[in-house]
Amino acid sequence: MITDPVLITIFAIFGAIVGSFLNVVILRLPYPEQSIVFPASHCPRCSSSLHWYENIPILSYIFLRGKCSHCLMHISIQYPLVELAMALLSAALMYSFQLSIATAGYFLFCAALLVIIVIDIHHQIIPDVISLPGILLGFLFSLLSPTVTWQDSLIGLVLGGGVLYAVATLYVLLRKIDGMGGGDIKLLAMIGAWLGWQSLPFVIFASSFSGSLVGIIAMFYQKKGGRTRIPFGPFLSLSALIYTFYSENILYVFHLYLNGQWP
Ligand SMILES: [Zn+2]
Repeated sequence: MITDPVLITIFAIFGAIVGSFLNVVILRLPYPEQSIVFPASHCPRCSSSLHWYENIPILSYIFLRGKCSHCLMHISIQYPLVELAMALLSAALMYSFQLSIATAGYFLFCAALLVIIVIDIHHQIIPDVISLPGILLGFLFSLLSPTVTWQDSLIGLVLGGGVLYAVATLYVLLRKIDGMGGGDIKLLAMIGAWLGWQSLPFVIFASSFSGSLVGIIAMFYQKKGGRTRIPFGPFLSLSALIYTFYSENILYVFHLYLNGQWP
């Protein structure tokens, strides 16, 4: 079954619009005193509010050449990138899952992961206000979606969160230091709830592998005194996104591997 290209395009545009809302969430969520909804979009330097044509996802950034039209302040490329990422994810969802409950659910999942990636890069935190409701929503999603059973979701949630949480707690008790990020554990529980326990071996392996690789490269470039913590949330999130779209291929390769037929 091939999805109508018109439907994919419309959903991609919808994704870009949601992406521009996610930009506001990313900007204001780490500062709880700021409202997510108010005030309306404005330039952070000259405070002039944006005309509607300066607020079109992706396109406005290109028309304005990345500058505020009033004070010419440089606008971060992060804004169009988040909008573009959400547009592409939306198009990919509609292409892969058609007009379905799965597309609607994974749309929320992808939006949450995108926000977590950017906030974790900037602030080294994964907000509980996203991961905790995300765990509950993931389980509720499994009750409606044919892509994951509620049993797989429940086991995924418990394995992703509970076991790692126990290990981290034990670690703190024994060593009196906080070794594992609590935010990462809640994120992995959320991923397990949305994608089922079958996703966890891939997500843990792919995120650890890519995270270590980037960590080694960062250490090499920073040389001495490199104690900068590399946030793990983006690696977990990206691995979860890959699994969302390629679960069949990934599980097939795992199946071959367990049977000794690969590599
Ligand atoms: Zn300005």
